[in-house]
Amino acid sequence: MYPAAFEYHAPNSVQDALGLLGRLKDDAKVLAGGHSLIPMMKLRLAQPKHLIDLRKVPGLAGIREDGGMIAIGAMTTHWQVESSSLVKGKCPILSEAASVIGDPQVRNLGTLGGSLAHADPAADLPAAAIALGVELVCEGPKGRRTVKADDWFKGLMQTALREDELLVEIRVPVWPSGTGGCYMKFPHPASRFAVVGVGAVVTVDGKGVCSKASVGVTGAGTRAVRAKGVEAGLQGKKLDAATIEAAAQKAAEGVDVQADLQGSVEYKSHLCRVFARRSIEAAVKRAQG
Ligand SMILES: Cc1cc2nc3c(=O)[nH]c(=O)nc-3n(C[C@H](O)[C@H](O)[C@H](O)COP(=O)(O)OP(=O)(O)OC[C@H]3O[C@@H](n4cnc5c(N)ncnc54)[C@H](O)[C@@H]3O)c2cc1C
Repeated sequence: MYPAAFEYHAPNSVQDALGLLGRLKDDAKVLAGGHSLIPMMKLRLAQPKHLIDLRKVPGLAGIREDGGMIAIGAMTTHWQVESSSLVKGKCPILSEAASVIGDPQVRNLGTLGGSLAHADPAADLPAAAIALGVELVCEGPKGRRTVKADDWFKGLMQTALREDELLVEIRVPVWPSGTGGCYMKFPHPASRFAVVGVGAVVTVDGKGVCSKASVGVTGAGTRAVRAKGVEAGLQGKKLDAATIEAAAQKAAEGVDVQADLQGSVEYKSHLCRVFARRSIEAAVKRAQG
């Protein structure tokens, strides 16, 4: 299947890209790694008249430490996130989530910004982004603004990004020592997308008491969400098996679980609870070194 005809643009600065977006409006789509947009165009689920390719725009890819945060350019590929020693050292759950996306071809072309802008309900990175509490930096005609991961995912493939904006950077807070994280998913056997995926980050003190817990769930509903009930069940408590199990029971609360070809609401809710428990158990082990 071939996409409908479109005009291709290759701007060489963010300003040029924003100028094109402002001029072409709804008729245009931004192209990053193309691993979600091009399949959609081939299926004629998207038929933009113009494609604005970001690959020649300098400064949109790369990973650096900046003021207690890890700053990752939107055009940084999944493979670069997966293999970065800075990301692996400071926020390993992000590397872990990137490493289980699709296959090497997808990870070498797909981008962090593309995944978060696309907001596929079965994507892996949204759960890790929520668990880590990342900030998303958008640039538009009026300058830059920052959106918290909690406010980013609005609905099925809908985000807080405005039509005239680009997602330019993802800023990841560095968690304190005594923190461990884990991203785990039940992958669809064919596509590898998450039927359910859970990202968990916990900080544990010397007595095994949880001072902070952050949990994101993807796959089961129309958008990735924070599992607030699970977090409340962990914070301030000694993280033994019974506490983790009881907290994980709340993992499907607040998720608009959808029945589809991959499972019933009951089955997917069950997967949320199972993967929340497994992900938290692994995060606690890692926090305790
Ligand atoms: C075979 C296959 C298997 C896959 N398996 C998985 C998987 O297991 N897990 C998973 O999470 N994902 C999976 N994916 C999706 C993959 O991660 C995509 O790369 C990703 O979702 C989109 O990133 P991209 O850079 O390719 O974006 P594109 O496809 O280029 O763009 C996606 C959307 O985001 C918009 N966009 C992109 N970048 C920006 C930006 N900087 N600012 C504003 N808007 C932007 C585009 O306009 C478009 O609407 C798979 C894809 C394929 C083809």
